[in-house]
Amino acid sequence: MEKSSGRVLITGAAGFLGSHLCDRFLKEGYHVIGMDNLLTGNIKNLEHLFPRKDFEFYHHDVSTYVHVPGELDYILHFASPASPIDYLQMPIQTMKVGSLGTHNLLGLAKSKSARMLIASTSEVYGDPLEHPQTESYWGNVNPIGPRGVYDEAKRFQEAITMAYHTYHGLETRIVRIFNTYGPRMRTNDGRVLPAFFSQAIRGEGLTVFGDGNQTRSFCYVDDLIEGIYRLLFSDYHLPVNIGNPSEITMNEFGEEILKLVGNPKSKLIYKPLPKDDPKRRRPDISLAKKVLDWVPQVDRVEGLRRTYEYFKTVVK
Ligand code: UDP
Repeated sequence: MEKSSGRVLITGAAGFLGSHLCDRFLKEGYHVIGMDNLLTGNIKNLEHLFPRKDFEFYHHDVSTYVHVPGELDYILHFASPASPIDYLQMPIQTMKVGSLGTHNLLGLAKSKSARMLIASTSEVYGDPLEHPQTESYWGNVNPIGPRGVYDEAKRFQEAITMAYHTYHGLETRIVRIFNTYGPRMRTNDGRVLPAFFSQAIRGEGLTVFGDGNQTRSFCYVDDLIEGIYRLLFSDYHLPVNIGNPSEITMNEFGEEILKLVGNPKSKLIYKPLPKDDPKRRRPDISLAKKVLDWVPQVDRVEGLRRTYEYFKTVVK
């Protein structure tokens, strides 16, 4: 691990993952510049940092030219709409932040000789035909489907990042993030965990899409942040999966939330499956174990307990 000093730019800083990254880098002693256009980010996620001298916030859309005065040592690009209903409502912004935004930030990284880490995703595997997903799998993506704007932007993002690495010799890192959960997720972002918690707390039906037999593998946010931190300071430039391999069906997941919240008025109800919804998803994390010595530490019982504490305070 390198010495904890230097200046870090985090895009998407007001979002779920971005704000946790700001906390972590400040804790490690870095000067953090958070950037966000607040399209889906929430400034409340950063309010506790505003009194600090080692934190600055720029309200800016990285899809347009990015200027940051002074030196930069690291750039972490986490700006993007990040839930399936966001992609439907903001398809162009989703494509622009992943493509133009990444290009602008790579240019900035090059001019500052900074190391750049990009937030890629398990969505690069699409509706995967291989299970679990290893980094060597090329994926099964529908480029013109509703999720294509996100998936293809992230695939382009990986490609241009590799191009800057090979052509310009830029120091780059690529994390492929699998479903992550924890405090500061938006209650109404449409993803399964905020939906289920909000519905269970309000005593509504939990909306399971399709037959509920599709699977996901949920990683607690602290584990993900630790993996990203290790990756940034590793010397590994190829993509690395970070996620929790504990796989669960949406029916089982709904039952777990019903049990945890214990609202007798709630039960599972069924709604149509969105188009191109991946049937199974589970990360193979052998590479992260090998190159980062990283495995998740927080199991779902503990992670859901901590997340429930947060949702209790924000769900109205
Ligand atoms: N899902 C669900 N009910 C909801 C929201 C989502 O059953 O209210 C399902 C969705 O169809 C998918 C899984 O939960 O199979 C995870 O969806 P999410 O939007 O959280 O993330 P994804 O992994 O699909 O990007």
